[in-house]
Amino acid sequence: MQQVINPFDQSVVGEVQYDTLDTIKAKIATAKAFIPAEATDDLEERLEAMARFRTRFQDDIEKAASLLASQTGKPVSQARGEIQASDARIAYFMEQVPALIQATTVTEGATQEEKSYQPLGVVANISAWNYPFFIGLNVIVPALLAGNAVLYKASEFCPLTAELIAEQLWDSGFSRDQFILVQGGGKEGQMLLEQDINGVFFTGSSATGTAIAKQMAGRMVKVQMELGGKDPSYVTENVDVKAVAQGLADGAFYNAGQSCCAVERIYVHQSIAEEFISHFKAEVECFKFGDPQDDSTYLGPLTRAAQIEVLQAQVQDAVEKGATVICGGEADARTGFFQPTVLTHVNHGMSVMQEESFGPIIGIMTVESDEEAQRLMADTEYGLTAGVFCQDQQRARDILKPLKTGTAYINVCDRVSPYVPWTGRKQSGLGSTLGHEGVFAFVHPRSWQIR
Ligand code: NDP
Repeated sequence: MQQVINPFDQSVVGEVQYDTLDTIKAKIATAKAFIPAEATDDLEERLEAMARFRTRFQDDIEKAASLLASQTGKPVSQARGEIQASDARIAYFMEQVPALIQATTVTEGATQEEKSYQPLGVVANISAWNYPFFIGLNVIVPALLAGNAVLYKASEFCPLTAELIAEQLWDSGFSRDQFILVQGGGKEGQMLLEQDINGVFFTGSSATGTAIAKQMAGRMVKVQMELGGKDPSYVTENVDVKAVAQGLADGAFYNAGQSCCAVERIYVHQSIAEEFISHFKAEVECFKFGDPQDDSTYLGPLTRAAQIEVLQAQVQDAVEKGATVICGGEADARTGFFQPTVLTHVNHGMSVMQEESFGPIIGIMTVESDEEAQRLMADTEYGLTAGVFCQDQQRARDILKPLKTGTAYINVCDRVSPYVPWTGRKQSGLGSTLGHEGVFAFVHPRSWQIR
């Protein structure tokens, strides 16, 4: 048995039995037999089961939020927010999937042409720990509704919330052939990918995504990925400086910066830089740091204590190259905590402006023009999101237009919506969840040509 440790006080939250090659094989042995020929076959039954799951998921909110806070250190108010906001995603898929996967006639005439959809089959969903409900359900809900079997391996840092999701789905009417839970770490993830699967949806770091792409190379399996980011935001002089500074501080430090689309780089127009930095620092200094189970906590410990070394190295590298630490900069005396850290006088020769930090740290750089901001925003191997704060929306659009990112934000940041696709470019991924694209991700289109 593997112990699950609370990153706040190092207490044991629970224990899980990791899968072995034999148990993984046994769990998926019969799954394929139950996959329908067409994605719409028996859809009503799956919709009814999903409706029961949707209710149960919200009924269990306090248990789920507390479990998430104990496993990962996410403040309980933010865990609750994640669960509540998942409801709109489930509702969206329940409404959209039936409409989108319906068979349709495309042309009529001597040769009639039609379009229908088939499930991919057994879809492996390997997932990260930072938003296990959001990123788990982004795949699980549309994939199950479209008739697939889902083989879910959550992160070793959140196996208990994975067990809860499994229990809720099974109790709601999905069978153990439709939703299959695999517990374990990277090794078990690799074993799962060796099986006869038909699709992979991976959410995690670009390094693991690359390893999985290599492992899957040569197999005709649909592989899709949501990976890391180094997301920039540019603040022009044409804004309410205090409000934008407060919004961006939240975008950078929410969930201790452990969000794929956390703001990781800020560029600010020189004419407002001093005022912006002063409001930003004041906001960060108000963040309440402490016990994740306390409703008033805003910043908890990092989920993986090992990330502290990455953050320390980024601060050290930046300071050696001329950066100024205006607040934070060090690991806190408590295990797993890192002080919310703001660096100014940064540049792109520093790792803090190039490599994903995934922690409570931000570099703020002053720029002289929109062109300079645009060039710096594009200077990254990642392409998840980029944002501009400016009251002139056309100017913001013009700055964002050439950037290769899955999402462009204007006057918002760190935001994901069920109604539009969530997708990355460059090292930030391949494929989409959410939006219509997040439904088509889990089916094969099929054309019918009938004379
Ligand atoms: P990892 O890449 O470390 O792990 C992701 C998942 O992959 C975990 O379940 C992990 O298991 C598993 N895994 C690790 N190695 C292998 C392997 N060789 N084969 C198969 N599976 C493997 O990422 P984190 O969990 O640390 O998540 C943080 C990262 O996720 C950040 O880079 C973040 O930006 C990104 N992310 C991206 C999102 C997006 O939408 N673009 C959303 C959320 C996060 P285990 O953890 O048990 O070792």
